Amino acid sequence: MADPRGFLEVHRVAAPERPPQDRVRDYAEIYGTLPEDELRHQASRCMDCGVPFCNNACPLGNLIPDWNDLARVGDWKKAISQLHATNNFPEFTGLICPAPCESACVLDIDDDPVMIKQIEYWTINKAFDEGWVVPEPPETRTGRHVAVIGSGPAGMAAAAELNKVGHRVTVYERDEAPGGLLRFGVPDAKLEKWMIDRRIEVLEQEGIEFVCDVEVGTDLSVERLRGEHDAVVLATGSRIERDLEVPGRDLDGVHFAMEYLYCRNRWVADSQGRPARKAEREISAAGKRVVVIGGGDTGMDCVSNSLREGAEDVLLLDVYPEVPEGGRYPNTPWPIQPRRLVTTYALEEGGERRFGRQVLGMEGENGHVRRVIAREVSGESSRTLVPVEGSEFAIEADLVLIAVGFTNPEHEGLLDGLGVAYDSRGNVKAGTFTTSVDRVYAAGDVRVGASLVVTAIAEGRRCARVVEAALR
Ligand SMILES: Cc1cc2nc3c(=O)[nH]c(=O)nc-3n(C[C@H](O)[C@H](O)[C@H](O)COP(=O)(O)OP(=O)(O)OC[C@H]3O[C@@H](n4cnc5c(N)ncnc54)[C@H](O)[C@@H]3O)c2cc1C
Ligand code: SF4
Repeated sequence: MADPRGFLEVHRVAAPERPPQDRVRDYAEIYGTLPEDELRHQASRCMDCGVPFCNNACPLGNLIPDWNDLARVGDWKKAISQLHATNNFPEFTGLICPAPCESACVLDIDDDPVMIKQIEYWTINKAFDEGWVVPEPPETRTGRHVAVIGSGPAGMAAAAELNKVGHRVTVYERDEAPGGLLRFGVPDAKLEKWMIDRRIEVLEQEGIEFVCDVEVGTDLSVERLRGEHDAVVLATGSRIERDLEVPGRDLDGVHFAMEYLYCRNRWVADSQGRPARKAEREISAAGKRVVVIGGGDTGMDCVSNSLREGAEDVLLLDVYPEVPEGGRYPNTPWPIQPRRLVTTYALEEGGERRFGRQVLGMEGENGHVRRVIAREVSGESSRTLVPVEGSEFAIEADLVLIAVGFTNPEHEGLLDGLGVAYDSRGNVKAGTFTTSVDRVYAAGDVRVGASLVVTAIAEGRRCARVVEAALR
């Protein structure tokens, strides 16, 4: 830390974003970057703490104080090599990570945290612009062949690491293009898909084979899969959505959030001339009164898509209480990551969020949803909710999107076909990434349950080390 007074003299500024009223008219990325001078100034706020809580909070163990200092002096080439040493895909985390590192930054105790995410994003953008991100295929091959099932961030990271040490890697993906939830969950407004294509191109040039449109366990039998590969990494995500068991759930116009998000992401891809499968069932929010149930990332992405489609109005019901002043509930003090954000990109664009609202059911006319029945509740977790007496109310709705989380991975097909054991939550049991089936490993949401992109990348990397040790 060359500037010991940096954090006293420089104040955090807001990361640039396109104005909500402009960006809501298109699907282009909403985030921008600070000018280089300003960013280097911001990096000088880092105190290079003796105990860097930022580093500890990052699932990847990113060497944050080190690259903050390299950013401060403008040594971007060294900064990107430090960043790539622990994170294969900083362009994804730099954009959409909720940044547990910033929540844990020591400055966040009584000031604003260092702009770690913005520094990360700037560094990787600079590296791509300068042509420093080039394919680095291994010099020799081991003769071993690994299959990675699923091309989300966990599968991509596992594939990158295993390929790096010389194994031949094939990634199988059932969707029409790689990326997992990065491509079909997260909207373009948060992450434009050419960024995934750019990284896949580098991975392909390094020798990784991506085979899309293949559902393993159905299109490719588990016997063939195991027969043709020395090891199998399961990175198939956690895709069974938590349902609302309430009256009216089966009315037309009531959908899981992911059905809607897959539709919208495919629509955007098609409108940009990228290959996209036709959605099985078109779901549109255009001109409708939309109610989104659930206030996490998935719910917010439904709000942002509905607004872009021209919904008549959008209301998000969140069962949790209002985020207190300062942004943290008492049960998530520093350095723990807050569970809910005070505001998010989607709500800045429009729509309304009501906290402490529990949905009791839906009512319809002629088989189609017309209103949502809900009540006010208090309490900090789903287990301690207390209904507010006499608070029931009805909201007119033509489209209801359920975004209350994911319960577990899909068992039917691949996982049951392999015969892997499950833990008590229904995730693949793989304490040390090793499943109950010989030469079969698991990483990412399929192992730990629905999580974050940064966790998935960290999972893929750690799993690759275990597979590598076994193959050697
Ligand atoms: C709408 C939404 C928004 C999100 N936003 C954010 C965010 O802003 N920031 C953040 O950090 N996290 C976010 N997340 C969470 C994050 O996207 C996930 O935690 C992460 O993508 C998990 O990575 P994964 O590789 O384990 O699984 P996934 O990304 O789910 O990838 C699994 C892949 O496996 C494929 N697959 C499954 N079964 C088979 C099979 N039998 N054969 C072949 N392929 C198969 C799937 O098609 C999929 O491509 C969001 C999640 C959702 C749903
Ligand atoms: S906790 Fe904050 S101030 Fe301390 S080293 Fe990490 S980024 Fe720098």
